[in-house]
Amino acid sequence: MKKIFGVLGDPIEHSLSPAMHNAAFSKLGMDCKYHAFRVRQKDLKDAILGAQAMGFGGLNITVPHKEKALEFTNPDTLARRIGAVNTISFNDEIRGHNTDGLGAEMALREAGVGISSSNVVLVGAGGAARAIAFHFAEKGVCVTIANRTPEKAEALAEDVGCSHAGMEDLKELLQDSDILINATSVGMHPHIDATIASQEILHQDLAVFDIVYNPLWTKLLHQAELAGAKPIGGVAMLVHQGAEAFRIWTGQEPPVEVMRKVVLEGLG
Ligand code: NAP
Repeated sequence: MKKIFGVLGDPIEHSLSPAMHNAAFSKLGMDCKYHAFRVRQKDLKDAILGAQAMGFGGLNITVPHKEKALEFTNPDTLARRIGAVNTISFNDEIRGHNTDGLGAEMALREAGVGISSSNVVLVGAGGAARAIAFHFAEKGVCVTIANRTPEKAEALAEDVGCSHAGMEDLKELLQDSDILINATSVGMHPHIDATIASQEILHQDLAVFDIVYNPLWTKLLHQAELAGAKPIGGVAMLVHQGAEAFRIWTGQEPPVEVMRKVVLEGLG
C-alpha cells in the first residue's frame, strides 16, 4: 500500500516540501506520496497521533508548530535542546528530530566551507538561529550570536553556552570571523532591500551564508559579492534539511540534485 508522508503547518499552501519529496520518491521508484496539511494549533496533537494511527511514514512540522510539536513526541537530544522539531518519524514511538542545523552545515560544506575551527557570527535568535546554534555547538563549533533584540541573543547564548554581542559590534566582530550567517528574516520577500550588513563591513576571507531563500539572491548576498566574500544562498539549507528528513524516514540516500531542481523551479 502507498506510504503517506506530510507536512503540518498553518499557512501551508506555499510549502515546497511536497514537490521536493514527491520528486525524490518518484526518482527512487518508491510507492510513496507526500501531502501538505493545514493544521490549527488546537488540532496539532490529534493530527500527529492520527498520522501515527493511520500508518504515515513520517511528518515534517513547520511554522508555527515546531515548538508545540515537541510536546507530542519523544525528541532526540538535539531537538530537545533546541526546543523544536521539524521532522517526526514513526517507528516504535513518535520520535522528534530537528534537521535545520544539519541543513545549514551541509549548505556551507557543499560550498567548500567547513565549520570546524571557524569563527562564526550568527545573526538572529529565532527558531532557525536556535537550531543552527545548538547543532554547531554539538559539533564543537561555538558561534557568537547577535540579534536586533539583544536580550534574546543573550538568552540563546546562555542556553547554548556561547558568546553574544550587540549588532553595533558586528563590524569589529567580522574582522576576525570566517563565516557570517544571517538567520533572521531580514531581506526576505517583500522587504528585499533590507540587509543585516553592507559591503563595507564584509571582507574577502568571509563566507556569507543567508538562510533566506526567497528571493534566491538577497541583498546581503549581493553585498557579499561586492566585498569579494563568498556568498551562499538559503536554498541549499532547505534542500539538505529535507534530505536528512528523507534519510530518517526511509533509510535511503535521497537524490539531492533532483530535490534541489524542483525547489529552484518552485521558487521561479
Ligand atoms: P523567527 O523565529 O520569527 O525569528 C526571526 C528573527 O529575525 C529574529 O531573530 C528577529 O529578531 C529577526 N528579525 C525579524 N525582523 C527583523 C528586522 N526588521 N530587523 C532585524 N532583525 C529582524 O523566524 P525563523 O523561523 O528563525 O526564520 C528566520 C528566517 O529564516 C526566515 O526568513 C525563514 O524563511 C528562514 N528560514 C530558512 C530556512 C532554510 O532552510 N533556508 C529554514 C528555516 C528558516 P528579534 O528577536 O529582534 O525579533
